[in-house]
Amino acid sequence: MHIVVCIKQVPDSAQIRVHPVTNTIMRQGVPAIVNPYDLFSLEEALRLKDKFGGRVTAICMGPPQAEEALRKCISYGADDAILVTDRAFAGADTLATSYALAAAIRQIDKEQQVDIVFTGKQTIDGDTAQVGPGIAKRMELQLLTYVSRIVEVDLVARTIVVERRAEGGVQLLKTALPCLITMLENTNELRFATMPAMIHAAGYPVRKWNKDEAGVEDISKIGLKGSPTVVSKVFGPTPRSEKAEMLVVENSTPRDVALNVLQKVFTRQVTLEQDLLDKVAH
Ligand SMILES: Cc1cc2nc3c(=O)[nH]c(=O)nc-3n(C[C@H](O)[C@H](O)[C@H](O)COP(=O)(O)OP(=O)(O)OC[C@H]3O[C@@H](n4cnc5c(N)ncnc54)[C@H](O)[C@@H]3O)c2cc1C
Repeated sequence: MHIVVCIKQVPDSAQIRVHPVTNTIMRQGVPAIVNPYDLFSLEEALRLKDKFGGRVTAICMGPPQAEEALRKCISYGADDAILVTDRAFAGADTLATSYALAAAIRQIDKEQQVDIVFTGKQTIDGDTAQVGPGIAKRMELQLLTYVSRIVEVDLVARTIVVERRAEGGVQLLKTALPCLITMLENTNELRFATMPAMIHAAGYPVRKWNKDEAGVEDISKIGLKGSPTVVSKVFGPTPRSEKAEMLVVENSTPRDVALNVLQKVFTRQVTLEQDLLDKVAH
């Protein structure tokens, strides 16, 4: 089984700064980490490797410093790491990012057939959740989003069964390989990297592919040129005007607590009670 895990190097949490003129992310001086959501995908890929054998290849499109993020993946147990890096990729939006990554994964597939591509649910900086589905569409892979558990993989029949968290329940989905999975957060716990694995990772020759090595055929589809998205304004959310409130209801049943909360809500939203009564009446 050959699994490709897409990981993005992201600026650490709240320290993200945005260029006031170009509206692009400024990485200088901000500590970088592997996008936390991608580590759930990496762990799931490593578990599949433990069960079925095969190899896990980690791939990242990013600047030269992103090599560090790939080394982390090697320390956890990935077998190979490829950094897709070229000035021509700079300023990519999700359309251009998915184009470049799809091209590179096709190149990986030529070396050894890829059965599953993993991406995280989303990143903590761009936050769009578009890159995974974008790669799947470009590579015509079956797309499984918000996966919470891999139930079964049949390498002979080339099928996979997963649980997918949907609104109001869990879906059980079966589809054909190759597929792309976007893994949900908190679905597994990342293993520890052992000291020998860290030493191996520190010296691992991460492969670096420029746009030609990544198999990019149309340079108008990568980087800023291939990015039709325009960020017209960047701003923080308006702070909430109301603070959370603690309700102390002594010696009460759950019914009393619920009534108490509803009473408070109805006092603030005066039309809500009547709206709900109208809805129930119909
Ligand atoms: C006009 C414009 C210009 C931009 N310029 C820049 C810029 O100069 N520098 C910059 O850093 N960002 C730039 N961005 C942000 C860029 O769009 C995103 O970093 C990128 O497209 C990924 O989108 P996302 O972070 O929303 O990922 P999501 O779609 O939320 O990511 C989902 C998953 O896809 C995978 N993934 C995403 N990105 C990568 C990657 N690069 N490598 C491997 N796997 C990945 C991960 O598994 C991730 O969990 C720009 C955006 C726009 C709109």
